[in-house]
This record gives sequence, structure tokens and C-alpha cells, in this order.
Amino acid sequence: MRPEVLNPLFVEATALEGVGPKLMKPLEKLGLTRVRDLAYHLPERFVTRRTVDDLDAVGEGEQVIIPLTPTEHRAPRNPGRGPYRVLAADDAGNICALTYFGRAAYTAKKLLPVGEKRWIAGRVDRYGDMLQIVHPDHVEKDASAHLARLNEPVYPLSEGLTQPRMAGLAAQALERLPELAEWIEPSQFEREGWPAWRDALVLAHKDENASARDRLAYDELLANSLALLLVRADGRRRKGQPLAGDGSLRAKLDLPFALTGAQTRSIAEIEGDLAQEAPMLRLLQGDVGAGKTVVALEAMLIANEAGKQAALLAPTEILARQHYETLRTMARPTGAEVALLTGRAKGREREGILMGLLDGSIDILVGTHAIFQDTVAYKDLGLVVIDEQHRFGVAQRLQLAAKGKRAPHTLAMTATPIPRTLTLAQYGEMDVSRLDELPPGRQAIDTRVVAQDRMEDVVAGVARHVGSGQQAYWVCPMVRDSEVADIAAAEARYAALKERFGDDVVMVHGQLKPEEKDTNMEAFASGRAKLLVATTVIEVGVDVPSSTLMVIEQAERFGLAQLHQLRGRVGRGADKSVCLLLRGNEMSETGRKRLALMRETQDGFRIAEEDLELRGGGELLGTRQSGDAAFRIANLEQVQRLLPAAHADARLLIEGSEEDGGWQSSSRGEAARQLLYLMERDWGVQLLRGG
Ligand code: ADP
Ligand code: MG
Repeated sequence: MRPEVLNPLFVEATALEGVGPKLMKPLEKLGLTRVRDLAYHLPERFVTRRTVDDLDAVGEGEQVIIPLTPTEHRAPRNPGRGPYRVLAADDAGNICALTYFGRAAYTAKKLLPVGEKRWIAGRVDRYGDMLQIVHPDHVEKDASAHLARLNEPVYPLSEGLTQPRMAGLAAQALERLPELAEWIEPSQFEREGWPAWRDALVLAHKDENASARDRLAYDELLANSLALLLVRADGRRRKGQPLAGDGSLRAKLDLPFALTGAQTRSIAEIEGDLAQEAPMLRLLQGDVGAGKTVVALEAMLIANEAGKQAALLAPTEILARQHYETLRTMARPTGAEVALLTGRAKGREREGILMGLLDGSIDILVGTHAIFQDTVAYKDLGLVVIDEQHRFGVAQRLQLAAKGKRAPHTLAMTATPIPRTLTLAQYGEMDVSRLDELPPGRQAIDTRVVAQDRMEDVVAGVARHVGSGQQAYWVCPMVRDSEVADIAAAEARYAALKERFGDDVVMVHGQLKPEEKDTNMEAFASGRAKLLVATTVIEVGVDVPSSTLMVIEQAERFGLAQLHQLRGRVGRGADKSVCLLLRGNEMSETGRKRLALMRETQDGFRIAEEDLELRGGGELLGTRQSGDAAFRIANLEQVQRLLPAAHADARLLIEGSEEDGGWQSSSRGEAARQLLYLMERDWGVQLLRGG
């Protein structure tokens, strides 16, 4: 049971002033449904603005507050296509365009009547030979309203939310924070000079307070380590069932290739684990294209040979289907029965699958999270394989584990090569097999860095590529720290490319309806569409081997690990692949180094290590581009710096108190239990109840 003192944090966000069903929608999109979530929704960064009167005095890319008078409204020629622009002048008569995409145009009409002076806060950029502010952050009738905004938090938003709204909600949430007992080890707490929990949250919303951020990151790491240690302790108590395969099914496999040394080694490691009574908890790490699927198949066949079923869980519908097709084809000679279950299966089809699982006629089930549902019962589940493990929380893994008569063995797979130092944080106490050798004959991806200015050449290159019947990806940049603006930019790019490529181009991004996304993806995967324009949603394992060109706009803004993942979408077939990294004119030193490294190597593990190096100091805020969702507060640098202490702290707390009545009996233990609930790692606590 959740400690009562936390109750005020776990009330619905609707309890806050001004939050009704309408506002809940965008909040839900960000996962902000309770007061707690709002308090922990920290600014990504802070904007420091300068007040100016004269556009001439503004540098490109500068954040300003400036009085401007709208002179003219320019609606797009075709409504819904292209942006809505309001031209506005400063006192000297210099003109600047205020540019709005999508629905924001309606706001512009109301907020910016022609001839009336307004104080505008925003980032001034160049658009052709004009200055422009895309989606001004604030528009006010008088200057005084801006006084508090010279140093303003920037929150991650979703459509329907604004920065002031978000800031208001955060302030309300912060007012409701209870006082909590300290859970950090006292000497550690003192040495670091960190603020108390409540103060740390308040400070982190106010400015770039490194100490507050560190404290909150440490909390998250501590909670994570505690929970993982509890899971491990629980795992030791559980009994699994040893699965000894006799090799009979595997012998029938008729693979068109010989396994690599790394694959053979990994399979042997897995086979060794499966033969034990203790449930396997193993992570298979291997870069995109390293050949994880066949390793998974061999593992599942071992389970089948031992008379048990196996299930493979994929993070998306598309991936589940892809796995299903591949596995079914590969497994055919063995006679193992492979089935697919996703949320889409309905009626008879679904009944049939459920029946087959129950009576044991299905040996291998492939699916999405639909295979978690309570109505899905197995005859005898022996092994669970989880693809793209980082997409799933440990909680889901445990839920699935509970399905077996006895705890099934678990093999998790990830294509995100992470540095050794971080393996512990993300995967806790799992054993690791590494596929550090690519199958032979892979061609290197020809990676080039091209100035974004040469857009016409790039488009011409894409046209030649598509013209010769090949496919290409086009990844749009993360423009600003707002999903809305990113999508606006992607839509603008899509519209431009559509003029040139017509129906050959489709688009996917995070705000499309799932069906629409699937339809577009499907059009691309089947080859009907030649060019796929996307925000970074294509990151997770889509396999379209005939795409051999990848264009990434403003590549210097992406993290290395993410660039590597994106590039991994090409180079999957026999043909030579090209990756064009478009760079802006102004690049940070880090940006330059990132792109140089991308050109130099394709070794995911090396890229992961260097990524960590490059992130080193500087990027304290801005965790968004890291692309790894294991932690919401701690960034990579903090994980590396703070994790060892947090892990030791957790271990001390749990193991040090084993004799005298369990870790929760001390007052610090009680505080730590609150932390687990607060950080939603309470599955750790839940496990303890059984034992
Ligand atoms: P990933 O690790 O990204 O899941 P896959 O399992 O999808 O990689 O494998 C990528 C491609 O490599 C597939 O087409 C697969 O058939 C092929 N492949 C896997 N192992 C080998 C091997 N040992 N030799 C040659 N090709 C292989
Ligand atoms: Mg894969």
C-alpha cells in the first residue's frame, strides 16, 4: 500500500485549478495525469531573453522580447498547406514575420490585430532575406507582463499546451508537495550539500540549478537500484524449470547462412542458462543487423524441444508482424507452430489463437503487449523473449513472468549498444551476451556530411535514387524543444517533397493516429511508397532492406546513439547504402565531433562509449535527444557520475538490514519505501509481499 503521506501527490491532475477534460488530453499525451507527474515534469532548459526595441540590434537565433506592430496578415494560399504569416514592424519600420503552422494560425488571427502594438517574446531567425519568429512564445499587450520572462523555463509540451499553462500547473503542483523524511544516506547527503527533496523540486523548476538536478537524478537512480536489487532478491527465491533441449528441432533448421562466432557463443550461453532451475535473466545486446532474431529462434526451439512454449514480445505492431513472418519462414522445416497475436486480432481468429495456446498446439507466439492480457493463458510457457527491451519497463516483464506455471526464463534483446558502465543502471543484474560481430559480407554505409544549404542537390540526389526504383528515408530535424514545432517543420518538409514526389512520399510522426501511421509505414514497407518522411519515430527497428538512402536533417542536433540507430535503418540489404548527414551552418564543437565520428565508424559499441564522452560536461539539461527512456530525470552524464554511489547506497540499505527485521523497518528504510512509490518503482516493493 502506498504510504499515506504521498496521497496529495497521487491525486488526479484534474484536482488542480483550471484542469478539465479538455486540458487532460494533451497532458495525458505527455503522461502527466497526476500531481506527481506535473511536479516531476522538469523544464528541458531555460530561455534567457533580452529586451530590445530594434530588430536591427537582434542577432540571428537570439531570444528577445520586442515590441512589434502587425502590418499585414498573410494566409497560406491553400488553407492547411504552408504557414500563416503575420508581418510586423518595429518602431524604426523594420519588418519581421511571425510564422504559425497548423492550428496555431487561429491564435495568430486573434492575438495580432493589425495596427496594434504587441510585446512579442520569441526566437528571431532568418527566413530567406526576412527575419522571422516561428510560433512566438508569448504575445502581450504591455511590457510588464514579460518581466518574469527574462529567464523562463521551457517545458516539453504537446499540442494544446502552452508554456505559461505548463508553468502555472507546475506551480500548483509544487504547492502541494508534502514534507518527506530524507532517504539519502546521511553522510552522502551532507558531503554533496544537496537541497532536501521538496526544495530540490522547487529549485529545479526555477532555474538551472545543478545541485537540485543532481539530487533529483540521484533519487531516481537510488529508486531504480533499490527496485532492481529487490527483483534480484525475489528471483533468487523463485523456482523456474530447467529446459534441456535435445537438439532435435534445431537440427532441422535450414539456415541460408552459417552462424557467426558471436551468435554461436550467445546461443551456448543461453542454452547453459536454460538448463538451470533458476530462471534465466539474460540480455542479448547486438547492434542493428547483428542477427539477434536467429539467436532468439534457437532459444525458443530449445524451449520447444523441452516440451514448453515460447513467446516473443515486440514493441510495435509492425515489428511483431515482421518477426512473425521471419520466424515462421525460418522455423518451417522444424514443424514448430508459430502464431501471431496483436491487439488487432478479433473474434474467431483471436479465439483460435487463445485455444492453441491453451492446448499447446502453438509452440511459439509472437505479439505485442496484447500477449500480456489476462485472457491469454498458456499451456506451459517456458521462455519469454523481449525484443527492444528498453521500450518495456521491468514491470511488464514481471507481469509476463507471472504467466508461467513456474517462472519462465527471460531473454531480453536490445539493439542499443550501451557502454558497459551503463548496463548496470538499465538492466540491473541481468547477465549479458554481446553480439559484437556482424554477419560477413555487410557493406559499409557510405556516410557523408553535407551542408544543409545544398538542399537542392540533396533533393535531386533523392530524386535520382527514387527514380532508379530504390527507396529512401528522410528524417526531419528536432527544431526546437517542442514537439509541435518539430512536427510543423516535418509537415512543411513533407509538403515541399510532396510537390516533387507526389504519391511516392508518405509521412509518419508521433501525432498521427496509430492506424494512419501503420498505413503509411505499410505503404513504404511494401514498396508502394518510395520516400518516407519521418520525425524520429522510425528509430525502432523497421526492416525495409530495399531502402538504401537515409537523409538526416540537422544531424548535428541528434545524439550519437540516435544517429547510429537511424543510420542502421539502411545497409540492410545486399546493395550499397548511403547516409547523408545534413548539417546547419552553425555547429557546436560537440556537433562537429559527432558527425566526424559517424563518418569514421559504424561500430555501435564504440559510438556508445564516445557518445558518453562527448556528453561529458555541458549537456546537463536537454535529455530529450538521448533517446533512452530508462530514466526520466537523470541524464547520461548523471547516470555515469552518480550511479555507483546510488547503487552502493541501495545495497547497503537492503543487505545491511537483512538481520534486523528487513530493510523497511529502519526509519531510513521507511523513507526509501516512500521513494520507491514516489518514483514508481513500487513493483520492487510488491514483490516483497510474497516472500
Ligand atoms: P537484428 O539483430 O537487427 O535483429 P536480424 O536478426 O534482423 O538483426 O538480422 C539481420 C539480417 O541478417 C537478416 O536478414 C538475417 O537473416 C541476416 N543474418 C543473421 N545472421 C546471419 C549470419 N550469420 N550470416 C549472414 N546473414 C545473417
Ligand atoms: Mg531485430
